[in-house]
Amino acid sequence: MARLSSERLKALDTAHHLHPFTDYKALGEEGSRIITEADGIYIQDAEGNRMLDAMAGLWCVNLGYGRQELVDAATAQLQQLPYYNNFFKTTHPPAVELAETLCRLAPKHMNRVFFTGSGSEANDTVVRMVRHYWALKGKPEKQWIIARENAYHGSTLAGMSLGGMAAMHGQGGPAVPAITHVRQPYWFTEGRDMSPDAFGQACADAIEERILELGEDKVAAFIAEPVQGAGGAIIPPQSYWPAVKKMLAKYDILLVADEVICGFGRLGEWFGSEHYGLEPDLMPVAKGLSSGYLPIGGVLVGDRVAQTLIEDGGEFFHGFTYSGHPTCAAVALKNLQLMEAEGVVEHVRDEVGPYLAQRWKELEQHPLVGEARSLGLIGALEIVADKAAGKRFDKTLGVGNLCRDICFDTGLVMRSVGDTMVISPPLVITKAQIDELVGLATAALDETARRLQAQGVAFATQDSLAQA
Ligand SMILES: *Cc1c(COP(=O)(O)O)cnc(C)c1O
Repeated sequence: MARLSSERLKALDTAHHLHPFTDYKALGEEGSRIITEADGIYIQDAEGNRMLDAMAGLWCVNLGYGRQELVDAATAQLQQLPYYNNFFKTTHPPAVELAETLCRLAPKHMNRVFFTGSGSEANDTVVRMVRHYWALKGKPEKQWIIARENAYHGSTLAGMSLGGMAAMHGQGGPAVPAITHVRQPYWFTEGRDMSPDAFGQACADAIEERILELGEDKVAAFIAEPVQGAGGAIIPPQSYWPAVKKMLAKYDILLVADEVICGFGRLGEWFGSEHYGLEPDLMPVAKGLSSGYLPIGGVLVGDRVAQTLIEDGGEFFHGFTYSGHPTCAAVALKNLQLMEAEGVVEHVRDEVGPYLAQRWKELEQHPLVGEARSLGLIGALEIVADKAAGKRFDKTLGVGNLCRDICFDTGLVMRSVGDTMVISPPLVITKAQIDELVGLATAALDETARRLQAQGVAFATQDSLAQA
C-alpha cells in the first residue's frame, strides 16, 4: 500500500483531525508522532524509531501487538457474519460464547453480562441499571451515586459525571444529577501526615459521612476503580477496601467496581476485585477484554441485581447498535482463550508482577523519585523536588510532561499524570524486558534531572538527601 510521507500525514492531521484529550493549538505547533507498526511490547513511529510501550497502548494491549490468532479470529468472523445485533430476541455464537466465558472467569456470584462498545458506555449502563434496579425494588428515591475525586470512568456525559476529573467537569456540563464525589485514597499526596492505614480508614469514613448527609435511603451505589488508573496508578492503603466493603453492606448500597483497567490480569488476578476480595454487584469492563484489538466493553452483573432485572423488570430500554458486536466478541473470546491457555494471569501474579515490584522499587534511589509503587503490572513514580518532604515541583514547570517527552526520545512510552509517571505494560512482558524498561526509565530520569539542572531548577540531590 502506498503511504503518504510522514510530513504530509502530519500536515493533514493538523488540518483535519481533532484528537481526544488534546490541546489543539499546541499539537498544531508541534505535530503528532505517527505510530505505524508494532510487535510484541514494542511500537514503531513513521521515522523508524522503536519504543518499548510501557502503557500497552492505553492500558489495553495486554497480550501485546502482532498476535496472529486475534487477526485470524477477526478475519474468520468478518467472513462468516461481520455484523448482526442482539436486539429483538436475536443473537449470534460469538456473543453467547463470550458471555459464557466471561461469567465463568468472573467471581462466582456474577453470571450475566450486558455488552457495550466501550468502557464509557459500560458506565452509562451502570448509572441506568443501578437506578432502575432500586426503582424495581420499590425504592425509587435511592438515586445518588457516590464516586471519588480524581477517578476516571470515561468521557461520555455519564462517564464524565461519575469521574472526578475537575478539568472535565469544567467543560460541556452540567453533569448528570445525583452523583457526588468523596476524597480519594491517595496517600502520597493527601495522607502523608497519617499512617497509610489510618489514612485509608479516614477515606472510608468520608464515604460514610456522605451517605449520612445524603440519607442512607437515598444512595444507590458507590463506584470506584480497585486501583485508580488514569488518576495516577493510585494503590489504596490496605485498610481502605475492607472498611469500604463493610460500610456499604451496612447501608445496603451497591458496589460497582470499575474493572476497565484492573480487569483481565492487570493486578495478578482475573479481576482487581478478587485481589481485594470485593464481591461487587456490578463490574464494568473494556480495554483488556479484547487486548484493545477491537472496541468492546460490558457490565458484569451479580446475581442479586440480575435476578431483579429479569424477574421484575419487564423490558430494559437500553442498548447499543454494537452491543456484543460479533467480530469484536470473537476477538475478545479468542483473547480470553489465549490468556487462559498461556497462563497470562499466573505469569503476572507469580513471575513478572513480583519482579517488577522489586526492580521498580529501586527507582526510589533516584534523586527525582519520591515514591515508586506497583501492584501486578501497574506502577507509578512520583517525581518530586524534595523527596524527604515529598514536595513537588512548581506545576507550571511541567516536569511530568518533560519526563514523558524525554521517555519517548529514549525509546520508552511512559505516561505522565501531572508529575506522576505511570506504567501499565503488556501482561506478556518478560523479566528481561522489565530490566530493559527499568534501564530506559532510569536513563530518562537522569536526562530529566540534567535538563532541570541546565534550566537552573532546584531539587534535592543525593548529597542533600544523605544529610536529611
Ligand atoms: C478507560 C477507562 C474507562 C473508559 O473506557 P473507554 O473505552 O475509553 O470509554 C472507564 N473506566 C476506566 C477505569 C478506564 O480506565
